Amino acid sequence: MTISVPLSPAADQPVPFIDLTAQHQAIAGEVMPVVERVFTEQKFILGDEVTELENEIASYCDARFAIGCNSGTDALILALQALGVGEGDEVITTPFSFFATASAIIRAGATPVFVDIQADTFNLDPEQVEDAITPRTKAILPVHLYGQCADMEPLWRIATQHGLAIVEDACQAIGAEYRGRRAGVLGSVGCFSFFPTKNLGGAGDGGMMTTDDPEIAKRLKRLRVHGDVGGYEHIDVGMNSRLDALQAAVLRVKLRHLDEWTTARQQNARHYAELFRQHGCMGDVILPKAPTDGRHVYNQYCIRFRHGLRDSVMQSLRDQKIGCMIYYPKPLHLQTCFQSLGYRLGDFPVCETMTNEILALPIYPELPAIHQERVVSAIRQACAAQTSKSQSVRRAA
Ligand SMILES: *Cc1c(COP(=O)(O)O)cnc(C)c1O
Repeated sequence: MTISVPLSPAADQPVPFIDLTAQHQAIAGEVMPVVERVFTEQKFILGDEVTELENEIASYCDARFAIGCNSGTDALILALQALGVGEGDEVITTPFSFFATASAIIRAGATPVFVDIQADTFNLDPEQVEDAITPRTKAILPVHLYGQCADMEPLWRIATQHGLAIVEDACQAIGAEYRGRRAGVLGSVGCFSFFPTKNLGGAGDGGMMTTDDPEIAKRLKRLRVHGDVGGYEHIDVGMNSRLDALQAAVLRVKLRHLDEWTTARQQNARHYAELFRQHGCMGDVILPKAPTDGRHVYNQYCIRFRHGLRDSVMQSLRDQKIGCMIYYPKPLHLQTCFQSLGYRLGDFPVCETMTNEILALPIYPELPAIHQERVVSAIRQACAAQTSKSQSVRRAA
């Protein structure tokens, strides 16, 4: 008789930052047949699969309309265009986001105007938005960074007062909630991305726009097909930003799992918080604040390091093959291609501090608890090693 001994995972096993194969293995039996179906039908662009996905996303976000497009980036550009934002207009946004947040404003013909963020949520600071308004301001573009909604209530008040539109960059936040309302219906248009590493990721690029306004919905639908109203009659210069049937078919399968994946991400976030407390790391790290009046969907789990520890801890994790990433290492206002906007270092101190302190840890739904334990224990060791090193330097001085 053989006795089976549970395999203890090797202590030096790599910890990937994200593992999409784990998710695919679990649902391959559901995904592959719909891929087959699309190939059998040979209808690859828009069509019934896309319409069905649009209906399902609209209902998931409590929106009246959802319109598929080619990417989250295109969603932002099309949303701004549909709202009439263009040449000579200014759009207020955050400097702490993925590049597309700002580039979409420029692609729409307008100028991004940055304001600083709040240190506890990493999102646009509403108190600074009002000061940035000029006669040319047309819209506010808050980002629900890492899967947590921006503080919308003050933005609604400011937008109403000044007659501004709100475009939500909800690319990281499908299913997130703010005071009981879903991301995607917190402004005039909500923009989503189905990039494979987002919470609802396709088998390639894809995007979606949500709105409650039938006129805007009509415009969005037109703009994604070159402004065509049918019969090669073009009333706007739109673009080619159609969603593929293949993406829609895969996304429809995955949407059915989204809530269980979100729950797993939230559980992983809670487990990190317990582990950091148990390991006594709280003097060196600042954990993300879970909202009391919202639903955080943790596209990323980002912690901050005090005492300038971030870079040495990151190096130590990488040496041990533990995945971690900096989102984002360079603020948007300091990007070379935005130099002509005239911003300089020091303009947005909170954002600039975050780029030096932030580190994203693995949080994907299938992340094993044992990997989380390894991440936190490696962080604790790296912090302790660094702290004793700097103490001995201080003693020697
Ligand atoms: C991913 C992302 C985008 C762009 O989405 P794509 O589908 O890659 O074009 C825009 N904004 C934010 C905040 C994102 O995370």
